[in-house]
Amino acid sequence: MDWTPTRQAGLERLRAFVPHAGSAYASGRNRDEGWEPSAGAGPDSRTTVSGLSPWIQRRLVLESEVVRAVTEAHGPAQPEKFVQEVLWRTYWKGWLAMRPSVWADYLSDCDRDAQRVESNGRARRAYARACDGETGLACFDHWSAELRETGYLHNHARMWFASIWTFTLGLPWTLGAAWFERHLLDADAASNTLSWRWVAGLHTRGKHYVARAENIRRFTGGRFDPTGALARAPAALHDDREHPREPIVELPEAPNHSDVRSGLLLTTEDLCPERSALRDTTFVSVAGGLPADVTGTHGSRPIQFHAASLHDGLQRSATAFAAAAVRLPDGTDYLDGVLAWAHEAALQRVVAHAPTVGRWTASFERLATRLSRSGIELALCRRAWDTQLYPHATAGYFKFKKVIPDLLRRIA
Ligand SMILES: Cc1cc2nc3c(=O)[nH]c(=O)nc-3n(C[C@H](O)[C@H](O)[C@H](O)COP(=O)(O)OP(=O)(O)OC[C@H]3O[C@@H](n4cnc5c(N)ncnc54)[C@H](O)[C@@H]3O)c2cc1C
Repeated sequence: MDWTPTRQAGLERLRAFVPHAGSAYASGRNRDEGWEPSAGAGPDSRTTVSGLSPWIQRRLVLESEVVRAVTEAHGPAQPEKFVQEVLWRTYWKGWLAMRPSVWADYLSDCDRDAQRVESNGRARRAYARACDGETGLACFDHWSAELRETGYLHNHARMWFASIWTFTLGLPWTLGAAWFERHLLDADAASNTLSWRWVAGLHTRGKHYVARAENIRRFTGGRFDPTGALARAPAALHDDREHPREPIVELPEAPNHSDVRSGLLLTTEDLCPERSALRDTTFVSVAGGLPADVTGTHGSRPIQFHAASLHDGLQRSATAFAAAAVRLPDGTDYLDGVLAWAHEAALQRVVAHAPTVGRWTASFERLATRLSRSGIELALCRRAWDTQLYPHATAGYFKFKKVIPDLLRRIA
């Protein structure tokens, strides 16, 4: 696949995939057509899935644009399955937004599990073999290499991989999720953490996903057949901690008063502000960088994608808002960089699309405090898409997806 980190490339990929998004997607989406290492950069020949996630995750391409494009081409019924998949991301984000303690527990469990593995020679070696693709289990080692070398795995391969990691290899799911975050071009706190929890049996309590050899053989077209090598009847993982639902803080689509000297701060969670309710706001400057929580989590490939797509977002925003674009420092200098930018541009207000629960949230909490100490307001906004859909993620996806017909009517 061609992973060009621009909105233009994402839109071209969408255009190319639209003809496949109807019944072909519904019948073929579970098939992992595979990746050929000798073919170089990625799984070029994939036709059953879109490969759009790195663009959608950063909102280089919007969910609403994807849904509109496929329903315009096929009508509402044919691409139903594809639209349901696109809405999974919104469901996961809404679910996590209402249960931020799941994310906090994941972060602390990750540290705990990393220390446990590090201090136990056997576990340390097993973990290293899984990450390096040297377990001796051909399918798993192949997906491990594919992920490291391309930054992508088919959804079914992600499910098999997470299940084998957790139940056959007996490794902590938290470290598997963190390893995915390191390598996936589309790494997304909600989709990733909650999918791993779902596989482990922690999302829907007691219901876990157990990878089966027959299923792998069938959906890889016979390339792999791990008969006899997988855990047969593992128990679901169990965790007693409760995660009470919290209300989602209400946010406007755009700031209220336009007479305040404002700057627009981009994050890699929303790189298309010119196609949002912010489009009518006046900004004297736009800026963006990558905080330490982001640069410290992802490996070089996702970070390069982040940096290049941020550049793309800044260029488009500078044109759309007729404002100067400023590339802020990354890593530990990020917060100082935002403050310096705000002072230099004499801003009274910094406007941003609020990041959802994940790698950006802690930096934004610190940023709010630091800006307010300088008398600068941090005005967070949220797209109508998120505001309208998140509150429906109260229970399972089956309940959530009932919003889709109404959503399609509104988009039409
Ligand atoms: C263990 C595990 C970890 C995962 N981690 C991530 C992650 O970090 N980031 C991420 O974006 N997705 C994640 N997923 C979900 C899913 O695997 C990917 O979104 C999908 O494979 C992306 O490929 P695609 O664009 O070709 O998908 P397509 O099948 O073409 O789907 C179209 C779009 O729908 C969305 N989508 C499809 N399936 C899902 C899903 N199950 N959950 C959420 N959104 C979905 C994506 O935006 C995708 O681009 C994970 C799934 C599992 C099982």
